[in-house]
Amino acid sequence: MSPDVAEKTIGTNGSAHYTWPEGARLALSIVVNVEEGSESTVLDGDRGPEPVDELGVVLKKPLRMHGNESNYEYGLREGWPRIHKLLQKYNVRATFTAAAVSLERAPDIAAAIRDEGHEACSHGYRWMHQFHMDEAQEREFIRKAADSIEHTTGQRPRGWLSRYLHTDNTRRLLQEEGFLYHMDDYSADAPFWGAVDGSPEPMVILPYALDSNDMKFWTAPSLTPEDWLTYAKRTFDVLYEEGAEQPRMMSLGLHLRIIGRPGRIWALEEFLRYVRGKQGVWLASRSDIAEHFARECVDQPARVALRAPEQLPE
Ligand SMILES: [Zn+2]
Repeated sequence: MSPDVAEKTIGTNGSAHYTWPEGARLALSIVVNVEEGSESTVLDGDRGPEPVDELGVVLKKPLRMHGNESNYEYGLREGWPRIHKLLQKYNVRATFTAAAVSLERAPDIAAAIRDEGHEACSHGYRWMHQFHMDEAQEREFIRKAADSIEHTTGQRPRGWLSRYLHTDNTRRLLQEEGFLYHMDDYSADAPFWGAVDGSPEPMVILPYALDSNDMKFWTAPSLTPEDWLTYAKRTFDVLYEEGAEQPRMMSLGLHLRIIGRPGRIWALEEFLRYVRGKQGVWLASRSDIAEHFARECVDQPARVALRAPEQLPE
């Protein structure tokens, strides 16, 4: 490979010799993000208000943004009960990617995770970017989140999702802190072993998906609920079809304040009704999927991570 491009090997899925439990074609992971209460606000000592907003209004001034703050409150007050009802109605064991502070501030959600058998996955201590943290700060951030989530839900998180941007250290720190899987990856429709920079041992990577995420209601080119439902169903259909030949996995990412609106929640219900009518779907938490994969694929080689050209061996 030419020395001015990074060393990168992209594996295909051809070598994956395993099956899902009971011969399922598809592992389906419903991911409920809980970030409300962890967003930026000068009230909590942040330099400015939360930039992620249904209206896309971004203020770089140290002001309260009362409108957007109330949008986040909506997620807890109205969105959560609607989503909760559907999880119960369709018997869904979900993975809650939670910013720890949000669960501290919404004990009823923490109690539902604990009492109804859902998985608590860490989305950081607060909903913030890690990229400016040095190694010690990031380790502290990861630990503090795990301690808090263990306290509120009774389970120590085994998976991690960053607020999109993370560091070169993140994966190794997660491994050192005993995490089972990392989900900051969009490179595949199935789990794989990912190389860990600075560690001889690989880590289970459970790729996530942004294309079918309900964030698409908020970001351009945005989807209508009808579009989103069609997109989610077609994603499911294609992976279900491919699942006859190789194990496939689908992630559906949701947010309380987004899909929890009355004009959108019906699309989630329609999706759940649709997939519940199919045979051979393993609707599971991410920790169950990661554990199963790790057990079944002990010998699979790790994919080589992208390395910068200056780090290439001579
Ligand atoms: Zn998130």
